[in-house]
Amino acid sequence: MALSETILTVVRELLPPQRPIGLHEPSFGERDKALTQDCLDSGWVSSVGRYVDQFEQGLAELTGIPHAVATVNGTAALHTCLMVAGVRAGDEILLPALTFVGTANPVAAMGAVPHFVDCDRDTLGVDPQVLEVYLRQIAELRDGVCYNRHSGRPLRALVVVHVLGHVADMPALRSIADDYGLCLIEDAAEALGSYRDNLHAGHWGDLAALSFNGNKIITTGGGGAILTRNDELAARARHLTTTAKRPHPWALEHDAVGFNYRLPNLNAALGCAQLEQLPQRLAQKRRLAERYAAAFAGLKDVELYPEPSGCRSNHWLNLLLLPDNSERESLLSAAHAEDILMRPFWTPLHRLPMYQDNPCAPLQISEDLFARGVCLPSSAALANSEAA
Ligand SMILES: *Cc1c(COP(=O)(O)O)cnc(C)c1O
Repeated sequence: MALSETILTVVRELLPPQRPIGLHEPSFGERDKALTQDCLDSGWVSSVGRYVDQFEQGLAELTGIPHAVATVNGTAALHTCLMVAGVRAGDEILLPALTFVGTANPVAAMGAVPHFVDCDRDTLGVDPQVLEVYLRQIAELRDGVCYNRHSGRPLRALVVVHVLGHVADMPALRSIADDYGLCLIEDAAEALGSYRDNLHAGHWGDLAALSFNGNKIITTGGGGAILTRNDELAARARHLTTTAKRPHPWALEHDAVGFNYRLPNLNAALGCAQLEQLPQRLAQKRRLAERYAAAFAGLKDVELYPEPSGCRSNHWLNLLLLPDNSERESLLSAAHAEDILMRPFWTPLHRLPMYQDNPCAPLQISEDLFARGVCLPSSAALANSEAA
């Protein structure tokens, strides 16, 4: 049997019989309906209301990060992080090539330049060792500001991503950011409920972004949040996500370019209900990852990507690594033919037309993982299902 057929047989046996099977479906219960209904009944559905405050408090408690500012989505949260970090047009921002395009687009929208770096086989996140060697070659510090000596542009920030819910090697990345005077931003969109050394994702960055899009581990329909331990950055983020309107009982005065980026109360109500279910959701996701690992343990040529050491992952998406690229497309198309959604990794960003001329470090690991990786159906509801 061809390897792609063998893999599909293993997956089919693990999944329930119904079709279609999505890549990552949300789950809703009575509590989601109750809080959403309560919010509708209150009439406070828009950008002011107690559910927004409650949701932010819940996120701060869960993550141990004092400030959470809820936003309309993860992309808006990242855009706000970049604004708060002082990113300006003409800056270069270091970020991984192997990530969702939403990590890079807010950078480009600000007139700054995404500069792509490679990831670490052991975490899927930015590789600190490789980054350090690279920065020694290309970076120079002048008056505390880091410059790319080839382009002459300031290297203002490093955005790291916790890919598929696995937390990158943050202590090492924090120390590189400190050495080079880079603002450190964590794109933790996929990493709610993920920890390294018992610290929640977002702990190390100056700022971090979460997403509650429909495909993430919990959802508010659309939504996101900014996390930070810094009081001033938090206040700035709150201001810029509420159109930078100065507090006044009636006057409409704005003192900066801000946006209507706050999460509506209606979405926050759903978020409060979803957050209550996170512990159970995490247990389901772990169980599904264990089931996949056991199912593929006997298959020599493939590897179910393991939880990185030191990391307690939310197992957002399960990743299967094939021996090479030869059967990836046949596996994906056979799975699609029977309504099981599997996907390759995101196309590495330096291969997309709008980023093909951007500066980049050598990207062998990103290229290799993209060529061989397939994301498996990972909805929490699949944790306990058995094939008929
Ligand atoms: C989902 C995601 C985003 C964007 O979040 P949205 O809420 O969809 O705007 C950004 N980065 C990564 C890595 C993501 O997975």
